[in-house]
Amino acid sequence: MPSPMEGKILLPASELPNRWYNPQPDLPTPLAPPLDPQTAQPVTPEQLGAIFPQGLIEQEMSQERWIPIPQPVMDVYRLWRPTPLVRARNLEKAIGARCKIFYKDESLSPAGSHKTNTSVPQAYFNMVEGVKRLSTETGAGQWGTALSFACSQFGLDCTVYMVKVSYEMKPYRQILIRNYGAQVHPSPSPMTRTGSAMLKKDPDCKGSLGLAISEAVEDAATHEDTKYTLGSVLNHVLVHQTIVGLETERQLASIGAKPDYLVGCVGGGSNFAGLVLPFLRRKLAGENIRFVASEPRACPSLTRGQYRYDYGDMARLTPMLKMHTLGHAFMPAPIHAGGLRYHGDAPILCNLMEEGLVDARAYFQTECFDAARLFLRTQGFLPAPETSHAIKAAIEVAKEAGPDENVVFLYSGHGMLDLASYDAYLKGELTNFELPQEDIDGALQHCPQV
Ligand SMILES: *Cc1c(COP(=O)(O)O)cnc(C)c1O
Repeated sequence: MPSPMEGKILLPASELPNRWYNPQPDLPTPLAPPLDPQTAQPVTPEQLGAIFPQGLIEQEMSQERWIPIPQPVMDVYRLWRPTPLVRARNLEKAIGARCKIFYKDESLSPAGSHKTNTSVPQAYFNMVEGVKRLSTETGAGQWGTALSFACSQFGLDCTVYMVKVSYEMKPYRQILIRNYGAQVHPSPSPMTRTGSAMLKKDPDCKGSLGLAISEAVEDAATHEDTKYTLGSVLNHVLVHQTIVGLETERQLASIGAKPDYLVGCVGGGSNFAGLVLPFLRRKLAGENIRFVASEPRACPSLTRGQYRYDYGDMARLTPMLKMHTLGHAFMPAPIHAGGLRYHGDAPILCNLMEEGLVDARAYFQTECFDAARLFLRTQGFLPAPETSHAIKAAIEVAKEAGPDENVVFLYSGHGMLDLASYDAYLKGELTNFELPQEDIDGALQHCPQV
């Protein structure tokens, strides 16, 4: 029986959860359906079949509360799962916290972040339907790394369209992706119609995430043996991430503890949702568990976005999703937490937000780097710039929490490939961006009127 004083709470391998939790049957109000970008009618499974395999489309629309994790996915998960829940005792001391602080360490995966929790099942469900190759886009490279790892496990080819400016300025992740055996194209690339057209117009174009999405979707739609993958936002991605919260629940139970605050950073919302969703039913049943989401002030979709239908990408190729959005035409400032620069958020998370079940907070990047450095100097590990937003929020929450309360935050990834950002931080080169209301109003004007 582990003592509550223990620093690192491990879950025995035999207790690795063997099913994911799907929140759809438990949501207080049903999810608004995704709409076809042309007709504004609900998207049909047949339409999604052009770019996604049936197994994942079923999960996207499923009303089953529990979804079994296939054995081959369990076998790959076991390379790093279960992950530890760690008591951050030195951090508690440094900030004079009266409560306990724990973090769930998702940085220990092969790719260094939580994203492998979904890349592995996505590769698997494509493989079993005979798909030979997966295409995707990546910004800073976290998702591309996670997907190329997963494809290498299941013998799939993998093509990653990486925003050219990141490809050139942050070479380490594309080197890792290529060593996993994937092909990486700096986007815009000559491989697609969209990319070629852009290069003809502007040979020096440095790319954008929206453009890279268009290239990856076009690649999948024009090749019979190829499907497209997405690393956040969609329902099936959030469902896969619930393995994190399910493990956390067991780990807390093993020391007789309950969470009072669950904290995570939000880009598209998948890591945060993965932590909190398994506690949704307990919260709805009246337990006092607070869900705290942390986002950049430079890209404040949850705290300042509008709840409405919008496109998932700049090129308006994806279905329209009902979400808190800053507008698909919104171009966020170049903050170092590249994974948090998305104009919208996962519909499941936005649904909970609208129900008043999520407390969202926004922070400047320098205060997040300050928190990350404090974590480094107390706990010893270097967080990803995205993760620093979770740490900042956890510290704020811990200062408000009572003496017997437990704050649990999700440590979404390590920062060992983000050292250039920490260098800029030390040199005092980081800028804080506060988004002017005119910019939000301007970008929202381009949203579809449905
Ligand atoms: C991608 C990423 C995020 C943000 O994505 P979500 O879908 O919101 O989880 C956060 N942290 C790290 C380390 C990431 O790679």
